[in-house]
Amino acid sequence: MRIDVVTLFPEWVGQLEQFGVVGRGLRESRLELACWNPRDDADNASRRIDDRPYGGGPGMVMQGPPLAATLERIQAARANRVPVIMPSPQGQAFDQDEAQRLAEGEGFVLVCGRYEGIDQRFVDAYVDKELSVGDVVLSGGELPAMMIVDAVARLLSGVLGDSRSASEDSFVNGLLDHPHYTRPPRFADRDVPSVLLSGDHARIERWRAQQALGATWRRRPDLLARRELDATQKALLEAYIAEQKGESGDPDGAGE
Ligand code: SAH
Repeated sequence: MRIDVVTLFPEWVGQLEQFGVVGRGLRESRLELACWNPRDDADNASRRIDDRPYGGGPGMVMQGPPLAATLERIQAARANRVPVIMPSPQGQAFDQDEAQRLAEGEGFVLVCGRYEGIDQRFVDAYVDKELSVGDVVLSGGELPAMMIVDAVARLLSGVLGDSRSASEDSFVNGLLDHPHYTRPPRFADRDVPSVLLSGDHARIERWRAQQALGATWRRRPDLLARRELDATQKALLEAYIAEQKGESGDPDGAGE
């Protein structure tokens, strides 16, 4: 998979190569990341790529022609035509389903806006999809682009040490993840839930499934409303809810 990023700060986005599992994926060539500076395509000695907005008002707008020229260079460097994506607060919400779709494709181009944004004619003519990372305004598309690269990269085979890590994460099955514990067994006046020390793998699996269902029910009921639970999951969640209401004596909440 190859991802191209158009950014005024290529050194910053390129830092992804140095850290964590994504950095390792890049170094081991499971993923290729190429950063392009539209200033290299500016039609002037001062390398300006922004100008004042038509109609007046505050701020500057990124100009279309240098960005179009950068896209042409990218297209020439790639064997295949891939989607052009622009991070934008006006885009569709970037979520795990979208990350999965992108991870199954052949790569994509991310075009990072700055200032007030990019000339609308560039967006209309060249951008296939706008993705938002939340109802909040950032100063540029670089952090959203890095989020998108990170979320997609960890889904590529071989990037995470254990591929089960990705399949058990929040949102992957339409649920939040269960809580995690590690040593020491007692910390901050709290013990590890005893079921996790029982060595009974079926019971542990049931407890984790129940915790995932319970966390989703408490924090993100909208996720539960969007999916069908099977009979086992329904029973686990009902037991969890009953326990929350103080109707169950099962201390582990393992639904037995
Ligand atoms: N005037 C624009 C915001 C421009 S912010 C507006 O109100 O819609 C500058 C750039 O930051 C944008 O072009 C976009 O690339 C990026 N950006 C800011 N917030 C973002 C968000 N929530 N999601 C994705 N990209 C964002």
